[in-house]
Amino acid sequence: MSDYKNILLALDLTEDAEQVITRALSISQGEGSTLHMIHVVEPISFAYGGDIPMDFSTIQDDIQQQAKQQLSALGLRHNIPAEQQHIVLGRPETEIHNVAEELNADVIVIGSHGRHGLALLLGSTANSVLHGAKCDVLAVRVGTTN
Ligand code: AMP
Repeated sequence: MSDYKNILLALDLTEDAEQVITRALSISQGEGSTLHMIHVVEPISFAYGGDIPMDFSTIQDDIQQQAKQQLSALGLRHNIPAEQQHIVLGRPETEIHNVAEELNADVIVIGSHGRHGLALLLGSTANSVLHGAKCDVLAVRVGTTN
């Protein structure tokens, strides 16, 4: 049980997602607590810098559709209604911050791999979300890497 009223759960839709969902569910049991889920789809153009003169819109739509279905399946499994499922296009950290503000979230729940070395230097999504968040951030340790 917790005092959080508006919880935003950030999901990358990998096998680690269940661990993060379980933790988010455990803090959303209180009366009047709403659990939202977000998955951010990164535009394909981000990967190649927009230099290739090709139309990726169909592939992009397919990726978004697949993500929507995956999020919807998770919502069904964990009793999180469609209006609390958000699929957004953009950079994960930016969109997680934007949606957290729009929803007036009081906590963002995110997975953290606790990386070391180069990955730590380059930063992770959890790290980027933590910096600049206007609410609490709960980083749930996922995976087995130490
Ligand atoms: P990463 O730093 O990419 O290993 O991701 C760590 C955590 O950030 C994941 O467990 C999710 O909670 C969150 N995350 C990463 N990518 C996304 C995404 N595209 N949309 C929403 N959340 C994400």
